[in-house]
This record gives sequence, C-alpha cells and structure tokens, in this order.
Amino acid sequence: MNNLDARYAGHRALMMALFGRSGQPPAWRTEAACAETDPAVFDDQHRIDEAQRVCAGCPVMALCRADQLAWESRTGTRRRFPSGVVGGLTATARHQIHYPPKPKAAAA
Ligand code: SF4
Repeated sequence: MNNLDARYAGHRALMMALFGRSGQPPAWRTEAACAETDPAVFDDQHRIDEAQRVCAGCPVMALCRADQLAWESRTGTRRRFPSGVVGGLTATARHQIHYPPKPKAAAA
C-alpha cells in the first residue's frame, strides 16, 4: 500500500463515518440554505437566533434534522456529540432528544 492508497482509505473511512455505508453526502445538501451562510454562525453561542432563522427558511430542514439525529444516534459517546445549530436545533435541544430528562420521583 502506498501513501495514496492510505490517504484514499482514510478519506473513505471518514466519509463512511460521516455519511454511512454509501460514503456519499445526501443529495438534499445541494438545497441547504446554509450553503450561502458563514458556517461560523451555526457554531456561535451568541448567534443562535441568526442560525435558527436560516434553518427556519431552509427547504430541507426536516431531512437535515432527521439525518443529524440519526448520525448522532449512531455515535456512541457524548465526547463526539457535536455543538452548534443543525436542522434548526441547538446542541442542547438535540441532546435532550437523545437523552430525555428522567421524570422526578414523586415525593413520599
Ligand atoms: S436546516 Fe439549517 S443546518 Fe440544516 S441544511 Fe438547512 S440551513 Fe443548513
């Protein structure tokens, strides 16, 4: 195996980790409203409203959100849990979907 093979294998592994077995980004990405927006907006705690306004007008928000939640479900550790707004949801909101708060026990 030469260096090109190793780089290709590494790239392929990364793409599969990101996009599943096909290793290809989903087709809906070509319609993403955020393609025309500074990516920093989506990862800035002081610009959450701005990011969510972009997502609210995005024609593929439902697909984006579903893919993100599915991807996060596949990752087994909280260490990998991404920050920022995706699919109109903050990281905290997505985290609560994956790990809903436990109901408080009734007082005795
Ligand atoms: S919903 Fe938001 S993060 Fe997802 S593709 Fe649309 S603009 Fe981008």
